[in-house]
Amino acid sequence: MARQNIAAGNWKMNTTVSEGKDLYKALSNHSVPEDVTVIVGVPFLHIGTLLSIKHASIKIAAQNCHFKNSGAYTGETSPSMLADIGVDYVILGHSERREYFHEDNAMLAQKLDAALENKLKVIFCCGEPLEIRKQGTQNAYVSKQLEEGLFHLTADQLKDVVIAYEPIWAIGTGETASPEQAQDMHAHIRSILTNKYGNDAAQDMSILYGGSVKPGNAKEIFGKEDVDGGLVGGASLKADSFGAIIDSF
Ligand code: PEP
Repeated sequence: MARQNIAAGNWKMNTTVSEGKDLYKALSNHSVPEDVTVIVGVPFLHIGTLLSIKHASIKIAAQNCHFKNSGAYTGETSPSMLADIGVDYVILGHSERREYFHEDNAMLAQKLDAALENKLKVIFCCGEPLEIRKQGTQNAYVSKQLEEGLFHLTADQLKDVVIAYEPIWAIGTGETASPEQAQDMHAHIRSILTNKYGNDAAQDMSILYGGSVKPGNAKEIFGKEDVDGGLVGGASLKADSFGAIIDSF
């Protein structure tokens, strides 16, 4: 994928299937500029229903997948199941998955491989907790997440990946990283991509910012040179606020 403007919603464990259907329909009525890709990350249970009313302008992502295609893993959903029904993307490594479900970089590397083998595109999340930000060691922390989780991929595989930088202290807290803090980290991520994969691959990578993005701050954040859009939680749950974020590119 060449670098794109992306507005990705993360519904997390919110909305019933019927509420999700209404939200998806309302979003489908929103006009999406040609140079913007819109994705919604929805609960597994919603996917079949939303695929049955799928609109070309709103792509569908799962919020997780397993690293095996089948087997004795009660309660899990595999990447081959998602690919088979026509899911476009999967979000991997969200900080809530890392924290509450103990997903570490090694496990995420396996999930990434399994998703890409099944031709799913991946939104790969990284980001530091507050104590790391206070120490000022966030660049090293995020570098390690990417080196251990992502950098085993070839440059060709990397084309199906989007990176989402989400400082944990800004997720669902109402506290947003300043546009300059976001730009600094995105530039850092692009520089380590350049060192590992070369300038072309680094310039082609879409890097999203996530953490309390709202209609009121999206324009300024997305306006930064290395910020290619957002991964949006709370503000993606209402069609008018997510629509306004889509309009801020
Ligand atoms: C998220 O869930 O990825 C997120 C960034 O949430 P919020 O926009 O609510 O901070």
